[in-house]
Amino acid sequence: MQDINPEHIRVDPYLSPLFVEKGITADILRLDLLHPIVSGNKWFKLRYYIEQAQEQNKKSLVTFGGAWSNHIHATAAAGKLAGLKTIGIIRGEAPAGLSTTLLQAAEMGMQLHFVSRAAYRQKKMPDQIDLSEALLIPEGGYSLTGARGAATIMDLINPDDYTHICCAVGSGTMLAGLINACGKHQQVMGISALKNNHSLEKAVSDLLINATTTPYIVHDYHFGGFAKHNSLLLDFMNELYRQTGIPTDIVYTGKLCFAAYDLAGKNYFPPGSKILLIHSGGLQGNRSLPNGSLIF
Ligand SMILES: *Cc1c(COP(=O)(O)O)cnc(C)c1O
Repeated sequence: MQDINPEHIRVDPYLSPLFVEKGITADILRLDLLHPIVSGNKWFKLRYYIEQAQEQNKKSLVTFGGAWSNHIHATAAAGKLAGLKTIGIIRGEAPAGLSTTLLQAAEMGMQLHFVSRAAYRQKKMPDQIDLSEALLIPEGGYSLTGARGAATIMDLINPDDYTHICCAVGSGTMLAGLINACGKHQQVMGISALKNNHSLEKAVSDLLINATTTPYIVHDYHFGGFAKHNSLLLDFMNELYRQTGIPTDIVYTGKLCFAAYDLAGKNYFPPGSKILLIHSGGLQGNRSLPNGSLIF
């Protein structure tokens, strides 16, 4: 498998007549270009776990996720690249046919263990898993270690070039890392991919270095819930691709870009704002769509 190369990451302008009209600019940080498989923010969240596993001579990484989890997919790939075994505890009983995500994870050598939703919620470890030489990674990489890795996303740019940094939010690990890495003069804004997940503010706060900062999370752009989508979103993603050549995903980055565009239309960003949208990857999730839904 090809090596991970942060040099592939670049900033692309998101040019749109709306932004010109509002006197603002937007750029997109293309973490999706990091690697064809280990794309996006997941590698940043995993990097210090992998370092830790190597320092402690662990043989494997054990983590949790659902059937379409980008985190499972990225852990399988990153583990393989690092020469570590990977074990995925997967939510729900084993289906008759595996999702593309899980098939690829298995191809990359990940051992999959399916557990009932109830057992998954309790993060119960299946008995047959030997943890003696394993490093346990929480679901979504959520911890101070994950946030510390996500903070290094900001090393890729000059933060002073931007007034607003916007990212999609799942577990909140990336948002916490970005807030920790940003100056006070910047607004870091998270767009939640989940419906009414109001435990997020606390989850993000728990990972902040400066406890007085309040995370800013917008909850209005979930499109009905996690991974839910409609033609409005798909049309927007296709139009964005036509305008910029940038592909986005239905779970996170499509909703992020839609939110930024919609908020700009509602004059949320004062004239002169320089917005950076973090393209956190996740394109593999689009394979859950029927063929032909997207033009890319
Ligand atoms: C996992 C993921 C996120 C959310 O990151 P968290 O740190 O869990 O909030 C955002 N975008 C993409 C593409 C992801 O795969």
